Amino acid sequence: MESECIFCRIVDGEIPAVRVYEDGEHLAFLDTNPRSEGHVLAIPKEHIKTIDELGDEQTAKLFIVVKRIAESLKQKMGVKGYNIVSNNGEIAGQVIPHVHIHIVPRYEGQRSSAGFELAFPVDAKAKRKVEESIEK
Ligand code: 5GP
Ligand code: ZN
Repeated sequence: MESECIFCRIVDGEIPAVRVYEDGEHLAFLDTNPRSEGHVLAIPKEHIKTIDELGDEQTAKLFIVVKRIAESLKQKMGVKGYNIVSNNGEIAGQVIPHVHIHIVPRYEGQRSSAGFELAFPVDAKAKRKVEESIEK
């Protein structure tokens, strides 16, 4: 538990949250700035900053939790598709330095049904490099 960490404080119950899943090692709760209805954050209870710092087993278990949440969004909320996003490191836009996986439901009639390109348009220079590597 890091007393400065908002997510550790949510785990501890010091900061209220809408909890949607909990087991001994994980918690999932609704994001207070939802990108869509039902936007969930899944976290390990242990204060670890980024995915690369998780153990292999911890990583596997966390993604099983993510999958359970996705299943439940589909079965209980009729969600047809969703995006899974994880920002790791300040340079990648991580604001809360405690590993978290965003599960963002997508709905018919939303502004757009764009996937990856919403945040990451194709990088022409990187694309050329890949193409050059394929040609070699
Ligand atoms: P990041 O940019 O670090 O990937 O995202 C952090 C997320 O945590 C943001 O989407 C933000 O809305 C959410 N968040 C920040 N503070 C709180 C809080 O106190 N409670 C909840 N439920 N979510 C929070
Ligand atoms: Zn923490």
